Amino acid sequence: MKPQNYYQQMLKTFKEVSLLEKKPSLLLHSCCAPCNCYVMAILIKYFEITLYFNNSNIYEKEEYEKRLEELERYLSFFNKENQSNIKMIIEPYEPLIFDTYLNPLKEEKEGAKRCYVCYYKRLEQNRNYALKNNFAYFTTVMSISRRKNNTYLNEIGTILETKELNFLLADFKKDGGQEKGIEISKQFKMYRQTFCGCKYSKKY
Ligand code: SF4
Repeated sequence: MKPQNYYQQMLKTFKEVSLLEKKPSLLLHSCCAPCNCYVMAILIKYFEITLYFNNSNIYEKEEYEKRLEELERYLSFFNKENQSNIKMIIEPYEPLIFDTYLNPLKEEKEGAKRCYVCYYKRLEQNRNYALKNNFAYFTTVMSISRRKNNTYLNEIGTILETKELNFLLADFKKDGGQEKGIEISKQFKMYRQTFCGCKYSKKY
């Protein structure tokens, strides 16, 4: 199968939505402040965004809280800077339930099957919330990172989208996106975690 250029597809969607009279709504799966900062700056130009924090994959509670608090701190700054009113939906933290999906795949390398399941479960929840609340689009910030399997992310989004709800195909790391995100996070003195999230990723 021919590899997809998700970056070009993202630009094509930006062009299409910029012709609309009103910005469409988008529910943005958000994992942490360093991954969010640059993505929010891009997406706010084209969409009415709402952040969606559903990351029960993160081990352990202190780490989860640190990432959430840092994202809340940055969102508050971002809203002031941009005179915006972006809200964040926070789902309950359920690490034990989430680990029942990941544990059978604990020996897998980062970016492989365990991550497929982890992406799928979180994006599925994101899709369900977006559908229930009449969003026009959903997507995730995770393609900003070279450590994430972007083909999986976009394939899963395509599987989960419906007639009423589009998945925004994306590759936020392109055109220096990852470096721009790192730069913002350093300027803001953000907490930057050293592992992806689950206890199994702490080994790598
Ligand atoms: S390495 Fe990251 S994406 Fe993969 S399963 Fe663990 S938390 Fe999820």
